Amino acid sequence: MRFSTAAAVGLLAVAGAAAVAPIPPAAVERVYSTGAYPVFQRVLTPISNGAPFALIDLLIVAAAAWLIYFALAVRRLFRRGEKARVQRIVAWAVLPAAALYLAFLALWGFNYRRLPLEDKLAFDAAAVTPQAVRSLAAAAVSRANALHDVAHAAGWADEGMRLEAAFAAAARDAGASGTTVPGRPRRTLLDWYFRSAAVAGMTDPFFLETLVASDLLPFERPFVIAHEWSHLAGFADEGEANFVGWLTCVRGAAPAQYSGWLSLYAELIGGLSRRDRQEAAARLAAGPREDLRALADRLTRNVNPAISTAGWRVYDRYLKANRVEDGAASYARVVRLALGTELGRRVTAQQER
Ligand SMILES: [Zn+2]
Repeated sequence: MRFSTAAAVGLLAVAGAAAVAPIPPAAVERVYSTGAYPVFQRVLTPISNGAPFALIDLLIVAAAAWLIYFALAVRRLFRRGEKARVQRIVAWAVLPAAALYLAFLALWGFNYRRLPLEDKLAFDAAAVTPQAVRSLAAAAVSRANALHDVAHAAGWADEGMRLEAAFAAAARDAGASGTTVPGRPRRTLLDWYFRSAAVAGMTDPFFLETLVASDLLPFERPFVIAHEWSHLAGFADEGEANFVGWLTCVRGAAPAQYSGWLSLYAELIGGLSRRDRQEAAARLAAGPREDLRALADRLTRNVNPAISTAGWRVYDRYLKANRVEDGAASYARVVRLALGTELGRRVTAQQER
């Protein structure tokens, strides 16, 4: 066995073991999510923040170039009728994929396997009742109604949101370790895909940068940015990122608060019966109702249903492969966290005063 073959087999074995090994969540939490990961984040995010473009775009261009090279090389092998071509093709295709997968896990992916927030915060499952969902929806409606005019009057410049200080406090309350460096919201080559698939934003798992769709309406942006920053803080689960994003927004200035409550409203009504949903919607004032209509219009205008369905199906599989049992449905876990945690109930109570 030549050295390169041994190295290749070793790489595959490590990647395979990393994919299936049952590592206890408490160990992931201690060693990775509150140990190594925050150190990587504090190094990588400032680097990508300083770059003139989204660094994931480099990776996309490199991947495209590699695919072309791969296709040409395979064609050459077949033309020459070389022996052992199958082994070589497999090595070319599988080894870079294994290396990329290991980089993904090391830089970000292990966060999917950490302890759930319910195990770390004071959590009472009995507080999550249909009645509690209805009253939180009513609170979201009344906050959105009360904040609409002042939020729109203040405007949506990122500087006016006080989002960074609010995020630092929210992440700390949710148990993030140390300081998280916020990512500069960026546009990427993936923008076309984001717009067609109704993806609002993404956290680049390699360079730990914050990517945001260019067609978001101004009132959507604060929550989307706060959600992506929560991923940067190591909250990989979509429901947890929604929760920390909401906690961030409600601590920010009025425009950020409005954005946070309107997003929570959208998650909440998904869990209501048809009648309760209609009742909650009927209580929305003209302003927020107009904003939600503009949001629906944006989606109708830009989303390609085939791309969106396929994209979300792939994302659902991706989450399940990363051991998120609920897959793409995990966004709604924010409702459970907002109602079941002491932290969530305290924030709602404070806001209603
Ligand atoms: Zn997310």
